Amino acid sequence: MALKKNDIIRIEITGMTSEGSGVGRYDGMAVFVASSAIGDIINARIIKTSKTYAIGKIEEIITAAPARTQPDCPVFKSCGGCVYRHISYAEELNIKRRRVTDAITRIGGLSDELVGEIIGADETDHYRNKAQLPVGIDSGGRYTAGFYAYHSYRIIDCESCALQPAVFSDICAVFREWCKLFSPIPYNETSNKGLLRHLYIRYGEASGEIMVCLVINGDKIDGEQELANMLSKRIKGFKSLIINSNTKKTNVILGEKCRTVYGSDYITDILCGLRFRISPLSFYQVNRTQAERLYSIAAEYAQLTDRDTLIDLYCGTGTIGLTMAKRVKKLIGVEIIPQAIENAEENAALNGIKNAEFICGDAANAALRLKQRGEKPTVIIVDPPRKGLNSELIDTIASLSPNRLVYVSCDCATLARDLKLFAEKGYSTLKITPVDMFPRTAHVECVAVMKKAETGEA
Ligand code: SAH
Repeated sequence: MALKKNDIIRIEITGMTSEGSGVGRYDGMAVFVASSAIGDIINARIIKTSKTYAIGKIEEIITAAPARTQPDCPVFKSCGGCVYRHISYAEELNIKRRRVTDAITRIGGLSDELVGEIIGADETDHYRNKAQLPVGIDSGGRYTAGFYAYHSYRIIDCESCALQPAVFSDICAVFREWCKLFSPIPYNETSNKGLLRHLYIRYGEASGEIMVCLVINGDKIDGEQELANMLSKRIKGFKSLIINSNTKKTNVILGEKCRTVYGSDYITDILCGLRFRISPLSFYQVNRTQAERLYSIAAEYAQLTDRDTLIDLYCGTGTIGLTMAKRVKKLIGVEIIPQAIENAEENAALNGIKNAEFICGDAANAALRLKQRGEKPTVIIVDPPRKGLNSELIDTIASLSPNRLVYVSCDCATLARDLKLFAEKGYSTLKITPVDMFPRTAHVECVAVMKKAETGEA
């Protein structure tokens, strides 16, 4: 009999989706149940059905999976941020490594033996150095800044998110007081009306420097200077208040225009022993400690020498390449966001690095131009967004003919697809190491190394 809404069924959870939802089968049909764990036997209430799958909610846990733990966050069930607070960290790491292995074998057609041990984090809480919190007013007229509920625009206020440093809660408290004084109208995602969109906070974990940024649907907001005064009196390390204008109807958080109200246009942090300037629009790794581990694996894979020319594609503020620059003859970084390239150039100077060149542009176009001007890189590192590389760029990289290719990826499905394409061009994958940059969430990062076939073993 077909499943209907509100049916209660008994199922065993046997797998996990890439979004961190448990999956069981009922009459051959996949049933997805959030916050369930592999090995759970549950009674699930069906909340949605389609021809090929159903979505259920835990009604009762009959037998709990051995890896189950008590969630330690009061908003875990409603908030869309964490998906793994109900299982042990060891089990979370198993799930993440298995997800990488599945992608590498099924999509990439490669052997699971290439996937190394996952590098887990020592600290699974308080690791985020960035928060982008939508702002709203709840039914009691109180300002809220927090997270969207799972698949919704409803804001769950987060007084103290376990993934964030404690100082973010102090900043939110000052921000709410300021909202009460100046009554800004929160932005409404559906009607595109209202002014105040997001409270965006960045924290240099090693330097202690803090940037606060208000993302607004306009150019100015009442009380800017007062907010700067309140933050500078009460928040240690507060270095910068910035207004970012985003007047577009979009779910992209930041607009292109920034205006500094107080302090500097950037904060500085320390990564792998170097100092980095970070502007509001520039990418910076969200988990600094794990980023250092990720970069050290990338460096080990790159096997750099002073004869090497290194190209760092998708370089952001130059972090990966600059931390390796002193070991190579020449570094070329490519990045599409102009502010990030400005930061990368400043960062080279700040760290006394003179053998680096940075190019602002699309990675595929820039790689083609580098080829046309006769560059002969020996090592290329890529770190693209989730969609991975396009096939033109893969062609150009292969024609640049580096000995070694290091691929840092935040999506193992596109990584696997691209490793397969590189294999067709003569680049064989030697190893893939998953790194857990985002404990408690469904994301997993990977770093893979490839070698040009005809060069033989190093
Ligand atoms: N390697 C850096 C940044 C990685 S994030 C680090 O570890 O900090 C990916 C970066 O790619 C972002 O900075 C983003 O702005 C940039 N990017 C996105 N699309 C791009 C494109 N088509 N060409 C070049 N860079 C791009």
